[in-house]
Amino acid sequence: MNKLECPNCNHSEIIEKMNYRKDSKIYMAKLFLVQKENPDLVVHTFMCFACNHLTNFAGNVDGTIEYFETYKYDKDVKFDNYYDIHGERNKFDAIKRMIIDINFDNNLDHFVKRLDKL
Ligand SMILES: [Zn+2]
Repeated sequence: MNKLECPNCNHSEIIEKMNYRKDSKIYMAKLFLVQKENPDLVVHTFMCFACNHLTNFAGNVDGTIEYFETYKYDKDVKFDNYYDIHGERNKFDAIKRMIIDINFDNNLDHFVKRLDKL
């Protein structure tokens, strides 16, 4: 698992320092999503700023990546296989808040600028 690929637009990024590279178009976050049928699985979410879609995914032990739901940032979604606040609804607001909240040293200005344009 060293690369992420957006299932919507196929844009890919090397994961290392992905959130902080100025030319990166993918921001990845742990939003503590919990799948009902597999509650121990660590599901992460990334936002692809090339196409403004969010994707839930998990890294497998063999190093591959399993991609789950992909949806546009402003789409009203409901995923019955997740628990209520843990992924059932669109997580764009959560990821946006996270980017803004942890940007105290301006490391994430490249993403804040993209968020401002939405
Ligand atoms: Zn994309």
